[in-house]
Amino acid sequence: MADFDRLDQTGPTKAASRGWQGAMLKLFGADDYELTVTGSERVTDEFLRIGFTGGGLLTDRPLHPTMWLRLWFENNHGKLHQRGYTLVDPDTATDSFSIEFAMHDGAATRWARDACPGDTIGASFLGSRFAIPEPAPSGWLIAGDTASLPAINSLLDEISSAGHGAPATIWLEYTHDSDRSLPIRLRDHDTITWVRRERDGAALVEAVRAAAVDATGQFGWVALDTKSTRAVAASFRNDYGLGKKSVKSQAYWVPNASQS
Ligand SMILES: Cc1cc2nc3c(=O)[nH]c(=O)nc-3n(C[C@H](O)[C@H](O)[C@H](O)COP(=O)(O)OP(=O)(O)OC[C@H]3O[C@@H](n4cnc5c(N)ncnc54)[C@H](O)[C@@H]3O)c2cc1C
Repeated sequence: MADFDRLDQTGPTKAASRGWQGAMLKLFGADDYELTVTGSERVTDEFLRIGFTGGGLLTDRPLHPTMWLRLWFENNHGKLHQRGYTLVDPDTATDSFSIEFAMHDGAATRWARDACPGDTIGASFLGSRFAIPEPAPSGWLIAGDTASLPAINSLLDEISSAGHGAPATIWLEYTHDSDRSLPIRLRDHDTITWVRRERDGAALVEAVRAAAVDATGQFGWVALDTKSTRAVAASFRNDYGLGKKSVKSQAYWVPNASQS
């Protein structure tokens, strides 16, 4: 994560209040958009899907699995901060998509809870890249949680549509019992292990390590909290024998981050 991924800024107007984070994103070539809410659906008590039109975001833009953007949320102190969110079922023809919010105590959740059709939110697009490796891996090792479930689903869709049918072995960390009923786009030959979040994520890391086999030829994809992401990516390399280029990892959230 670049430094400007995490820090918060203040300012007199919404545009200006993006501060140096916004300026850095601009410098690196980010495109800015205003998204409009089209609808909201509670998938479970702890997981919310919101529909958007993209204000031109998807016009002429190639799509890729796990594609994400940065949404600008206003916190209790009137500061804006940007956080990553994944495009769900993006449709370039209508410039529309959904975003799924795993609920927690944060500015993003607060915004999502109250979002109504017609509401708008700022978004910046920069840094989202991923493609299925060539040649296609013989299998996939995937570790995530409810924040990365939208990305995992887009990955499973892409693996299926590529038609090579490589099986996926998935570890999913959950916090609420209802998380286990969330829709996952599994194929018959995929396997999933649910692990309750315990000891700040250590339970999932241990489950991954305990299942280690020689997985040469497979590809690892990891998106958890910062510490767990590092630990699982290391396990895929060291315990499963995957090369550095055969593991894609990105921390999706910071545990016990100071509230902003
Ligand atoms: C590339 C990318 C794609 C992402 N896609 C999605 C997505 O599609 N859906 C989604 O829900 N999230 C997604 N995330 C994660 C999301 O950006 C973070 O959860 C973010 O921290 C939420 O911001 P916030 O303002 O609500 O909370 P913050 O101000 O960042 O944090 C406030 C408090 O909430 C805690 N917290 C933050 N996130 C979580 C969490 N997931 N679980 C438990 N506690 C948490 C923090 O530790 C802190 O204590 C993605 C992240 C990245 C990097």
